Amino acid sequence: MKIFKCGHCDHPLFFENIDCGNCGHLSGYRDDDRQMLTFDPTRTSLLSDREKIVYKYCKNREHGICNWLIPENAEEVFCRACQLNRTIPDLSNKINLQRWKSLEVAKHRLIYQLQKIGLDLRSRMTHPDGLCFDFIAKNDNADIMTGHASGVITILLREADDVLREQAKQEMEERYRTLIGHLRHEVGHYFWEQLIAKDQSALRSFRDFFGNEEANYGDALKAYYKNGAPENWRDSYISKYATSHPWEDWAETWAHYLHIMDMVETAHFFGLEVNHKDILENMKIASSFDPYTIEDFETIVQTCVPLSFAVNSINRAMGIPDVYPFVITPAVVNKMKFIHQLLLPKRKL
Ligand SMILES: [Zn+2]
Ligand SMILES: [Zn+2]
Ligand SMILES: [Zn+2]
Repeated sequence: MKIFKCGHCDHPLFFENIDCGNCGHLSGYRDDDRQMLTFDPTRTSLLSDREKIVYKYCKNREHGICNWLIPENAEEVFCRACQLNRTIPDLSNKINLQRWKSLEVAKHRLIYQLQKIGLDLRSRMTHPDGLCFDFIAKNDNADIMTGHASGVITILLREADDVLREQAKQEMEERYRTLIGHLRHEVGHYFWEQLIAKDQSALRSFRDFFGNEEANYGDALKAYYKNGAPENWRDSYISKYATSHPWEDWAETWAHYLHIMDMVETAHFFGLEVNHKDILENMKIASSFDPYTIEDFETIVQTCVPLSFAVNSINRAMGIPDVYPFVITPAVVNKMKFIHQLLLPKRKL
């Protein structure tokens, strides 16, 4: 994620900011060119500080869950991220609102990233091949689970409860479980259908890296939950769950590809360098590039390894879990290279 600046006083702003902590001007995100705009709060209209253009906020700002901007005269009332919501929870319940808010923070970051890659993000409500999100409070329907089916990404609100999510993480013996992780994984299934299933040559290459997805999915998952992952899973997979079926391997690898791109992009925008001569002899990075502009994925991954080592070390100093608790083996890098090559032509650089 890039960092942003107030258009009035140049103070740095986070992606989620609704105002500038320094000068009090209102702020909002314009996804067309990924800029944060700011506005004088004493005016009646949202006239942008830098360009003097009038905007309106996405309707979901009413609930405090969105700061994206829409041109003043546009017919839409929701931004491109919120237009993808098909189901939102009952907001008369305060806990639902709080959990939905956490999910939207993760979802907006996901949409930022998918837009930056250049992926098509049409709504399933208007296009049969599109994508949409159902955010479901569990008591709505006991059978519904977090997952993806034909463009519908369902996320249970309970995932946004820190205690319940940590419990699930322990039960599933996972090293990492986050909202952004869920979203990146589930959207991976959608883009498999869009980018791989419809393209014979991509499908052939996919099978070279991930195996044949025609293996019965239900049986494969049943076997995985019964037997677990093979002993040597680390050699070729990013996680245990990735061993369950080629579709899950793809979704897991896709999610990690997005994790890595975001970490390296963020480091780039901060000009972060890991360059300790004695200890990190072979671990020097200078994040002098935006990874979305780089063709060679090897360069990106070489930057990510010392970066995650450094950030993990800071986390350990504070006694919190590693940011990126994974080892990326050459076989996994090869799968990610395939994803990177597949996505490169989409980039609108
Ligand atoms: Zn400011
Ligand atoms: Zn919105
Ligand atoms: Zn999955």
